[in-house]
Amino acid sequence: MKDTKDMKSSNELYSIFIITIFLILCLFLNACSLIPSKEEDSPPGTSPDPAAAKTYSPIVLEDHTSDLYGGTWIASCNEYLPLRQEPSGASKLVGRVLKGDTVQLIAYDSLFAKVNYEGKEGYVMAAYLVPANEESHNKELQIIKAVESYSYEQMTADLQSLADAYPAKLTIDSIGKSELGKDIPIAILGDTSASHHILVHGAIHGREHMTSTLIMSQMEYLLSHKNTKFLESSIKDALNDVCLHLIPMVNPDGVEISQKGQLPDDLISIYEQDLKQKKTGLSLMEYARRWKANANGVDLNRNFDAGWEAYAGAGGASSERYKGQSPSDQSETAALSDYTLRYPFDAAISYHSNGSIIYYEYGIKEPVNSLSKSLAEAVSHITQYPLVGSEGIEAGGFKDWAMDSLGIPSLTIEVGYRQSPLVLDEFSSIYERNKYVLPLTALWAKDRLK
Ligand SMILES: [Zn+2]
Repeated sequence: MKDTKDMKSSNELYSIFIITIFLILCLFLNACSLIPSKEEDSPPGTSPDPAAAKTYSPIVLEDHTSDLYGGTWIASCNEYLPLRQEPSGASKLVGRVLKGDTVQLIAYDSLFAKVNYEGKEGYVMAAYLVPANEESHNKELQIIKAVESYSYEQMTADLQSLADAYPAKLTIDSIGKSELGKDIPIAILGDTSASHHILVHGAIHGREHMTSTLIMSQMEYLLSHKNTKFLESSIKDALNDVCLHLIPMVNPDGVEISQKGQLPDDLISIYEQDLKQKKTGLSLMEYARRWKANANGVDLNRNFDAGWEAYAGAGGASSERYKGQSPSDQSETAALSDYTLRYPFDAAISYHSNGSIIYYEYGIKEPVNSLSKSLAEAVSHITQYPLVGSEGIEAGGFKDWAMDSLGIPSLTIEVGYRQSPLVLDEFSSIYERNKYVLPLTALWAKDRLK
């Protein structure tokens, strides 16, 4: 009897336990439906997956500064580089680095590089240093060769060679056509079903075609160096679960004008008008070489729907600063906008030249401005390009539109120091400084950086 009673009471206890658990579970589920899930709440760029957050420990970039710099660089200048005590042209001269002499690079500091020259530390202008292993670019890469005028035809041929060499990892497609009917190619690295997406484009301005060479080189480097150590792991690990969408040349018609230094007949009147109105004093050839617009004389990076109405710009077709008749009325702008809407991009990077600076702000919307700034700080850490606020920048840019309309954290990275089109001498340094920007952005998208 006792036993039965005990059994009964233990059955009762068991039932109470089950009911309690059930009630707790109901309460929990109810609470869950009232609180937005982390996924809905998470701004783009943060990891919505708690499991991922558990396995990922943040990387402290500061700990890796010494891995990123160092090595021997050569003074590439006319006679000598002044070696100064501080990173400023007004600072005390402590020596002269003769043309062709080697220095040890300690770090970049904006326009200057901190170097050790024959045991003496000081600063020289970074634009005049090239890596001694130059050239590291030509040694590291088999397919992409840096040339001063990297043409559309060369780029499409190289894209095909890369796709043939890495068929499992690279897909080549087109986002649409230019105003003169050229396909605008896109290279997709990784799986489009990945959790994270990053959009990168270059040469939206004709004369800034060295950015196409850069993006093509970044692409080959990532494909061919997947096991290379990067920060705490490898390039392969950094890119795991991330899909890179790379558009190396948004404005192939404008690039051709700049590279050939020739205006098509129907654009010569634009030059004559600019000459008459004293908007230019350049020769026809030099005017064409510095052409930024597309084949209609529209500046594509003033043609996006961000502050477009208020922007005055050039007022009519020109080599730069003409915004078009309505936002995205140019086929290149429309194609890039449409593609940007196709994936939930964690970040977008626009490569331009020149200035060696990073723009990261637009308006006051949040969290997009804070997220852009955090990405910009990480990129600045490895490129040593300083950040520049939004004051004084012109409207209608892709970055502005992507941030304002779509909430995508976006950067404009201006590479190189000298006037565009950049000279080939600058390329090695640009490549070295930007080689890891894409895997770094991938780590940032996965919320792995501190
Ligand atoms: Zn530009």
